[in-house]
Amino acid sequence: MNLAIVGAGMAGLSAARALRQRRPGLSVTIFEKSRGFGGRVATRRRDGFVFDHGAQVIKTPDADIERLLHAELPREDLRRIEKPVYVFYADGTIAEGDPTLNAEPSWFYASGLNQLGKLLAAGLDVRLEVRIASLRREEGTARWMLFNANGVHVGTADAVLLTPPAPQTAEILAMSDFDPALRDALVRELIYVPYRRCLTLTLAYDRLIERPFYALVNVDRQHPMAWLALEHTKGTERCPPGHSLLIAQMAGHFSMQQWEAPADELAAAVIEIVSMALGEDLSRPLWYDRQGWRYALPDGIARTSVLNTTHTGLFFAGDYTAGLGRIHLAIKSGQEVADAIEAWLTR
Ligand SMILES: Cc1cc2nc3c(=O)[nH]c(=O)nc-3n(C[C@H](O)[C@H](O)[C@H](O)COP(=O)(O)OP(=O)(O)OC[C@H]3O[C@@H](n4cnc5c(N)ncnc54)[C@H](O)[C@@H]3O)c2cc1C
Repeated sequence: MNLAIVGAGMAGLSAARALRQRRPGLSVTIFEKSRGFGGRVATRRRDGFVFDHGAQVIKTPDADIERLLHAELPREDLRRIEKPVYVFYADGTIAEGDPTLNAEPSWFYASGLNQLGKLLAAGLDVRLEVRIASLRREEGTARWMLFNANGVHVGTADAVLLTPPAPQTAEILAMSDFDPALRDALVRELIYVPYRRCLTLTLAYDRLIERPFYALVNVDRQHPMAWLALEHTKGTERCPPGHSLLIAQMAGHFSMQQWEAPADELAAAVIEIVSMALGEDLSRPLWYDRQGWRYALPDGIARTSVLNTTHTGLFFAGDYTAGLGRIHLAIKSGQEVADAIEAWLTR
């Protein structure tokens, strides 16, 4: 038996990892459109700086995730965020954050949060830079054939697990050839799952910017900036001594409005917002980096009753099945779908 997984983000990798442990005889191949593992858990390197321009930290609110991070995966590189997260409001007021939330540990990897993807992918068969565009039933069997954007057949599997964000999964299914009633029901369910966009601006400075907090989060959701992290507080591996890195994640409404803005105009607008927030002139960064996340965070959920198509050998996982964009929830969805696939194998 073999399984094809589309997407090497947290959901796809954790599903593959769980199945490899429990079912060593099952052949699992992961197809990933980009050049690396981790999806929205992503790290960039530039001029001696290292920064997480997607997800920033991982929380471990339950025993499974705690065990994964602290017992199952190598942990030499794992660090805890030492400073608290403060809150800010539309009028720019800053206040200390929720003490209960701040008491919950937040984790990252010193060499970059994408280390988590690399660790989860160890020993797995991942085909990078293969974008799956459509599926089709193999003639005369119940197996699934997978095709790339050029219509080239890249693999055949007994079951397929799809883990891209819901609208991207809908695009694949819309181009696929199988039971039209089922296909249309799935596409309708997935295509309308709302996602927030996020423009992320990383700013590097040749001086130290210090505050009593690691990050600021906007809690009234009225500010153009959703989150501002002092990325250099993650440690000496992150930037040269005496330098700083700020990461501004812009709010959904601001990101929609500015999505097409030229990078220099966007940077000027964001630098002004960040300067206001920190009460300091930040107009001369060494450099800035722009990243646009079209499907940053799900603002809705797809109904499991519609996605339950186990009898066809089609499976779904990802943060949108939990309705909230969090690393630990995406990992959990991968572990849960692994249970469903295992049950299907023993049917
Ligand atoms: C800016 C930002 C900040 C965030 N901050 C945090 C945070 O601090 N803490 C936290 O817990 N969470 C955070 N999140 C949310 C978290 O990153 C996600 O919830 C989680 O990573 C989702 O994992 P996933 O596997 O469901 O999806 P993804 O990470 O999107 O993985 C899907 C994978 O599928 C691949 N793919 C897509 N289409 C195809 C195709 N056609 N063929 C092949 N491969 C394909 C993609 O390239 C990707 O690798 C943040 C997200 C963003 C964008």
